[in-house]
Amino acid sequence: MSVYRTYIKKHLSKKLQNNLTNLKIFLLDFIRPIRVSKLATRIFGFQYKRSNNSIEIDITYKCNLSCPNCNRSCTQAPTEESMTIEQIQDFIKQSIEKNIKWRKISLVGGEPLVHPNIFEIINLILDYKNHFSRKTKICLVTNGILEEELNKVPKDVIIINSNKKTVVNKFSSFNIAPIDLDEYKNKDFRNGCQILKYCGMGLNMYGYYPCAVAGGIDRVFKLNKGRKSIPDKSDLMLDELDTFCKLCGHFKKHDNVISSKMSQTWERAYKNLNK
Ligand code: SF4
Ligand code: SF4
Repeated sequence: MSVYRTYIKKHLSKKLQNNLTNLKIFLLDFIRPIRVSKLATRIFGFQYKRSNNSIEIDITYKCNLSCPNCNRSCTQAPTEESMTIEQIQDFIKQSIEKNIKWRKISLVGGEPLVHPNIFEIINLILDYKNHFSRKTKICLVTNGILEEELNKVPKDVIIINSNKKTVVNKFSSFNIAPIDLDEYKNKDFRNGCQILKYCGMGLNMYGYYPCAVAGGIDRVFKLNKGRKSIPDKSDLMLDELDTFCKLCGHFKKHDNVISSKMSQTWERAYKNLNK
């Protein structure tokens, strides 16, 4: 597969490469409802599995934007909740004790730059990299609004800047729960989605999740399902996927919506949380 990818990168124009990627997304979307059926899962196994070498840490759910359909519910259920320095230290301690050399650690949110201890957190993670796992990539995912803070981020950190600037952005209909749709009601939710592959597992103030989106869902539904320590490689976190993917709009085919969309399960959950 990697030979195929190298060939494509080397010999095809950017436009053709994009067209091929779009075709791949279209085909994967087209077969998605069939691929995640219980029968297909029994025959072919799970479509996606959780990563054990990349992790996204939602260090805060506070954000300086209010995008509709935010997949961390920062707009739908605003909060000041943030991870503590002790929780970050515990993650690093566990990583070293379990001899985990992460391929990639991403600091995410909310907006990570609004965390009051953001630079202390960055330094702790850089310390882990410099003294224990030199090859780990450290990323910071930001909406780019706090330019002054952004300029202070050490050079060793890769900035992933979505440059949102305004709240008018296209997102998936995250708040349309698959269990509220006839097409997806009886699927095998343990299949997850490609976020497992591309973004890695998740960590927030409640624990470890197969993806960070699941951690954000747990915050709203208050199920307290996060693992309290870094799971072993053999733990595919299938119980968590089964719980959270049925609530998560990313499980469906790709779509792009601008205005807020919500199905009844989410409406109820936000109402309960905001009570
Ligand atoms: S910038 Fe990101 S975290 Fe903040 S509201 Fe928008 S989507 Fe959510
Ligand atoms: S919770 Fe959502 S983002 Fe995470 S694997 Fe399931 S469908 Fe994908």
